[in-house]
Amino acid sequence: MPVYLDHAATTPISASALAALTTVIARSGNPSSLHGAGRRARATVEQARETIAAAAGAHPTEVIFTSGGTEADNLGVKGLFWSRRAAEPARNRILVSSVEHAAVQDTVEWLEKHEGAQALWLPVDADGTLDLAALEAELADGGADSVALISCMWANNEVGTVEPIAEIVALADSYGIPVHSDAVQAFGSIDVHFRDSGLAAMSISGHKIGGPVGVGALLLGRAITLTPVQHGGGQERGVRSGTLDTAGIAAFAAAAQEVTQNLAAESQRIAGLRDAVIAAVRELVPDAVLRGVDPAQRPAGRLPGNAHFTFPGCEGDSLLFLLDMAGIESSTGSACTAGVPRPSHVLLAMGLDEDTARGAQRFSLGHTSAPEDVEAFVKALPNAHARAKTAGMAAHVSSIETASTRDR
Ligand code: PLP
Repeated sequence: MPVYLDHAATTPISASALAALTTVIARSGNPSSLHGAGRRARATVEQARETIAAAAGAHPTEVIFTSGGTEADNLGVKGLFWSRRAAEPARNRILVSSVEHAAVQDTVEWLEKHEGAQALWLPVDADGTLDLAALEAELADGGADSVALISCMWANNEVGTVEPIAEIVALADSYGIPVHSDAVQAFGSIDVHFRDSGLAAMSISGHKIGGPVGVGALLLGRAITLTPVQHGGGQERGVRSGTLDTAGIAAFAAAAQEVTQNLAAESQRIAGLRDAVIAAVRELVPDAVLRGVDPAQRPAGRLPGNAHFTFPGCEGDSLLFLLDMAGIESSTGSACTAGVPRPSHVLLAMGLDEDTARGAQRFSLGHTSAPEDVEAFVKALPNAHARAKTAGMAAHVSSIETASTRDR
């Protein structure tokens, strides 16, 4: 069996979620129908809504079901932008962190291109933590009146950095600006409490916490108005039309309940495994550099399941492939465009140069991870790394040769 170290991409479905999914999917009934089957489906959805609300520290009416994190991000960012600008046309700016997942980043870029939005990409420090002084300066400069919303993820999917959401919301609050946060990686991994956070909107996703792929939610404050992205039957407070996925929602709720009930013990257990991975990489590959917050210095600054390194002289993709051949499933952490790897925008925002950023590898742990996984990783890493480094050097030499041939 391969060792799965890519829980940040998706984590295996939990037993309770699978049981809920298979039980409920066998039943028929549209939760919007008025007959018995419809009412039973509605009851399942509403029970799940209460469970998810309790797990995320929200009121049940604040849970808007979506098809996942991407849709929740689109709805949160576009919906807040349109609604705030409709109320006050001068509000066309979006302040957004420069380390967002594509689901937020591309949404903001789309709003810039098609809706006349102006984005300000807020800087982060070398660990990927949002620069609060930059945000404060931007707001204090009299620029707050033109801000439609602020969006900053709760925790980063590549380097695992936990962002200062409380401080961001406190700053935004003094200007009455709503804040959206993509909590897809944070929810189920660290303490996330929607109401206490003061956020206007927050995205979560089922398949990152042991639920199925294709279901998620936008938590939306009761007083917050949102312009819908998709139109139809007016489900979900009229902001997210579409027949609800009763089985997916029931399974999402089962996973949310399980993960939040066991959060304290599990996050400690997983952080222990993560620390073992970090220690092993540092010992076996001394020139590898941990990216993001060092948990030995600031434990709360990093997700318990995330270890991310850059390996000098290696291409992340080669290392990924060689580790995969050795039975270790990891990730470079960032997406590629049409199969062409590009250096991660997150690492570039943290100040890395392109060459260094290309050597990135993320090892992420989750509920099925065990000490044996770390042992297998420790066995496989030296050889995979040595071969990736040789391949990296060969590629480097051949690119120099190609360039000098061209020069001639
Ligand atoms: N936001 C973050 C931070 C993520 O890590 C992901 C998934 O990789 C998403 C959003 C997208 O979520 P989904 O796969 O549910 O659409």
